Amino acid sequence: MQNRKPLIVITGASSGIGLATAQLFSSLGHPLLLLARRLENMQALNLPDTLALSVDVTDRAALAAAVQQGEARFGPADAIVNNAGVMLLGEITRQDPDQWDRMLDVNVKGVLNGVHAVAAGMVQRQRGSIINVSSVAGRKTFPNHVAYVGTKFAVHGLTENLREELAAHNVRVTTIAPGAVETELLGHTTDDSIKAGYEEWKTSMGSKVLSAQDVANAIHYAYAQPDGVCIREIVLAATRQQA
Ligand code: NDP
Repeated sequence: MQNRKPLIVITGASSGIGLATAQLFSSLGHPLLLLARRLENMQALNLPDTLALSVDVTDRAALAAAVQQGEARFGPADAIVNNAGVMLLGEITRQDPDQWDRMLDVNVKGVLNGVHAVAAGMVQRQRGSIINVSSVAGRKTFPNHVAYVGTKFAVHGLTENLREELAAHNVRVTTIAPGAVETELLGHTTDDSIKAGYEEWKTSMGSKVLSAQDVANAIHYAYAQPDGVCIREIVLAATRQQA
C-alpha cells in the first residue's frame, strides 16, 4: 500500500532529540527509518511504519545501505535529520585526543555520511530536506568545549555550503542550533568536575533548560514549511540561557 506521507530518516534516534523527533514525525503519520547503535531503544518505541536499524554513522557504507533499505520499503527519503552526536567536554591539556577523534568522526563525518546517503537521490528528484543538528556551540565558544565547538562550527559551515550547492536543485538544507537540552548528551563526558560545572550552569537557568520535545518541534517547523520555503537556521535556547 502507498504511504500518504513520505519517509523521514533520523540518525541518533535512540535517545534525546532524535527520539523525540521520531515520536513527533510518527504521530503525524510519517514512515520512519531510525538509525543509532542501540537498536533496543528504537524498537521499544514501537512506532508504526518504522524500520529501526543499528548503524554507526561513522560507517559510511552501512549508513548508505540502511537508507537504501528504508527507501526500498517506504519510498524515497523526503528528509534526513542528521542528529547523531557526542559531546566529550575536556580541558585541552588533559583531554585524551582520542575523544577529539571520536567527536570529529561522529559529529562531522557522520553528518557528511548522512548527506552522502541521500543527496544524489534528492537532486535527482529535485526535492528533499536535509536538516543538520548543530548547536549554539556551532556559533560561539564555551569553556572546555574546544574540540566539540570545532565539530559544531564545522556542522554550521558545511551545512550552509551544502544549502548553497543544493538550492538550485530545489533541495532544502537547514541548521538546527539548540542551546542546552536535557538529554543523555553530557553523560558521556568523562571529566567529573567539568560535568558538575555544566550541571551547575544548567541549574543557574532556573527550573529547566530546553526539552528534547522543544527541539523536535523546531525540526518539524522547518520541515513543515511549503516546498518553496527553506528555513536556513533555527537557533533556540532556554529563555534564561544567557550564553
Ligand atoms: P543524546 O546523547 O541523548 O543522543 C545522541 C544520539 O546520537 C543517540 O541516539 C546516540 O545513539 C546517537 N549516536 C552517538 N554516536 C553515534 C554513532 N557513532 N552512530 C550512530 N548514532 C550515534 O544527546 P542529544 O539528543 O542531546 O544529542 C543529539 C544532537 O543534539 C547531537 O548532535 C548534539 O550535539 C546536539 N545538541 C545537543 C544539545 C544538548 O544540550 N543536549 C545542545 C545542542 C546540540 P547510540 O548511542 O544508540 O548510537
